[in-house]
Amino acid sequence: MLKLENVTVCYGATVAVDNVSMDVNEGEFVTLIGANGAGKSTTLRAISGLEPVRSGRILFEGDPIQNAAPQDIIRLGIAHCPEGRRVFPQLTVRENLEMGAFRRYDRQGIKADIDRMLGMFPRLAERIRQSAGTLSGGEQQMLAIARALMSRPRLVMFDEPSLGLAPNFVEQVFKLVSEICEGGTTVLMVEQNAYAALELCDRSYLLSTGEVMLSGTAEEMLANPDIRRIYLGGE
Ligand code: ATP
Repeated sequence: MLKLENVTVCYGATVAVDNVSMDVNEGEFVTLIGANGAGKSTTLRAISGLEPVRSGRILFEGDPIQNAAPQDIIRLGIAHCPEGRRVFPQLTVRENLEMGAFRRYDRQGIKADIDRMLGMFPRLAERIRQSAGTLSGGEQQMLAIARALMSRPRLVMFDEPSLGLAPNFVEQVFKLVSEICEGGTTVLMVEQNAYAALELCDRSYLLSTGEVMLSGTAEEMLANPDIRRIYLGGE
């Protein structure tokens, strides 16, 4: 479904993503793991058209999309739930959800999807008329996830959706992401907690200083001695 071929992304002289190749197949739950600054967020931003690709190709359903405009990438069915719950704080919960459907014109479908999101996220239903800025961190993250789903994506990318959340919310968010994937949406998720990511996903890529160091199924990655030593705190 999504294929990166030798993708390089730079910030000035800094190479943030270095010759990265990866695949995400339809229906899969794939994670990108690795330390702070490894290039995980930049990889998602390049896929979304938010950072220019210096070299290499990004293919979606076989068509090159690298350096396409972000709104065209959303239209193709790729949604991006960025790091740091960037909800619109002055807008209400409902308005935030409507913003997620800004490329759509099917009013009935949008209404039905808002109802579906409120069913999935009862806490948002209780706060539908509140401005998003007044929600707790966990609720804002729920809203950011729901908003990303409002574009009816085929592939949804989450950037550290658990960051800064209380442990009970972290569990809830991970459960939701798994359910989204089980519902048929392909998921690519960035997660710094390697263990949590590998417990959830089908396959994973480990990035280190912009390069893919390792990749494999979650089982293979969990069993890898280097991963165990460096990222899982084992022997
Ligand atoms: P994090 O978990 O901190 O988000 P990450 O793995 O997602 O880490 P990136 O945010 O993609 O890593 O950063 C990769 C590299 O690019 C880092 O060296 C970072 O300092 C640099 N970088 C990221 N954003 C910018 C920017 N806007 N301008 C300049 N350099 C940047």
